[in-house]
Amino acid sequence: MLILLFGRLHRVVLVDSEEAPKSSKKDDGNVRVPRAKRRRHQPIKVSNQIPTSRRKEIEKALEEPSSTPKTWSRASGWKSHRIGRKLVKPGTIRQIEYDLMDVEIGESWPIPITVIHGSRPGPVVTLIGALHGNELVGPLALTYLQSHAILGEDKPIDPSTVAGTIRIIPIVNMPGYRRRSRYMTDGRDLNRFFPGKEDSNTTSRVANRLWKEIFQNSDHILDLHTAALGRSNMPQIRANLANPASNRSARSFGIEVILDSEGPKGSLRRTADDYGISCITYEGGGADEADPESIQIAMYGVLNVLRSLKVIPGYSSRPRFRLLASGSVWIRSDHGGLLDVLTPAGSWVEENELVATVSDPEHPGVSMEIRSPTDGLLICIATHPFVTTGTPIGHLLPISKGIKTVKRRLDDEGVLVLSGADGEPPWREDDEIEDISVEGEWEGGSPDAEWGENIPSAAEEEADEA
Ligand SMILES: [Zn+2]
Repeated sequence: MLILLFGRLHRVVLVDSEEAPKSSKKDDGNVRVPRAKRRRHQPIKVSNQIPTSRRKEIEKALEEPSSTPKTWSRASGWKSHRIGRKLVKPGTIRQIEYDLMDVEIGESWPIPITVIHGSRPGPVVTLIGALHGNELVGPLALTYLQSHAILGEDKPIDPSTVAGTIRIIPIVNMPGYRRRSRYMTDGRDLNRFFPGKEDSNTTSRVANRLWKEIFQNSDHILDLHTAALGRSNMPQIRANLANPASNRSARSFGIEVILDSEGPKGSLRRTADDYGISCITYEGGGADEADPESIQIAMYGVLNVLRSLKVIPGYSSRPRFRLLASGSVWIRSDHGGLLDVLTPAGSWVEENELVATVSDPEHPGVSMEIRSPTDGLLICIATHPFVTTGTPIGHLLPISKGIKTVKRRLDDEGVLVLSGADGEPPWREDDEIEDISVEGEWEGGSPDAEWGENIPSAAEEEADEA
């Protein structure tokens, strides 16, 4: 069984609760400017069902029988696994260096890949971290998964019992990682350039090489991320639930929050989906951080997916409930200044609850309030204090059904205790899990769009060129 790698977690409390009560009804001694009551957002209409059209799409996709590819059958023979120019024999582990670039002079950017090629046929599962170079939860989780407690004889991942192939790539964007940057050396976002082009810019070439030699011949991809710099995500899965294989992977990860979305244009997830390859994205914590809880949940999740795919033996653990979200609500600052957040990612917040204050060194003694527009679960919160009017500071799943179920799993600070965060989660039947649907839309087309990104995507660059 998995050995708990981390001790009791110390949650960061941003503000002492005695100094800053969550409810504004209490007198907290802070000086505040009187302000008319108003809500930036209208309450979103929420029902307990995913929108009918989307539900039909998902149900139809799930009806399609999943066939076992011919290459998994014993009749075809289980051969060595090829990655780039290297071969890995059945029943063995091999660590290889894979070059992101094919060059005759200059840097070829080698990245480490561990290939566990099972002795029995099965799917090819690719586990990756640091597609964004400064997102370190993935690299840490994927490194710990290769520790002696987990990988080896009689351990959860035992090459002699593995069916299929597991490819572990802790750091994809090595050039960004070395520079502690999200981006590639040319300032582009690698996760917006898939499937890439071999004769285009540097990032596009790297994306193309990775796509053709690693991702396109995967059956399942698990892509581990954190929030971008300046914000923090509560652990969550993002998947296109209308892709049957992605849908199953997302559910088998064993996590409470699943966002149903297609992913931004040029992202690995969206591209894989377009090619019919299962791909889910895990998000937990923030960039430049090593959040132990997010790492631990990622590790359990990866093992859960491998178990449910029968790549490794055992049963997946499951959460008590699942929030399947097709939309969200944004909390924005109506003021410019410096932010003081009172509710960490993962907090349950009530309608009109004070979630942050804004003050401004140029206007000492004045403090403005930011309140939640609705009841719900904060899936992401700003951690960088600088805000201007309209800056999103929190991302909320509006929840109107299943509130009791969710609240039962809150700790004494009102933060959701996720499955896997308090030790190895129990096994339970899939039908014992309460599915709670959260209706809505993703503003800007994908969950993170409203945070804003400055680097243009490949599609946008092409449009500019045209
Ligand atoms: Zn990322």
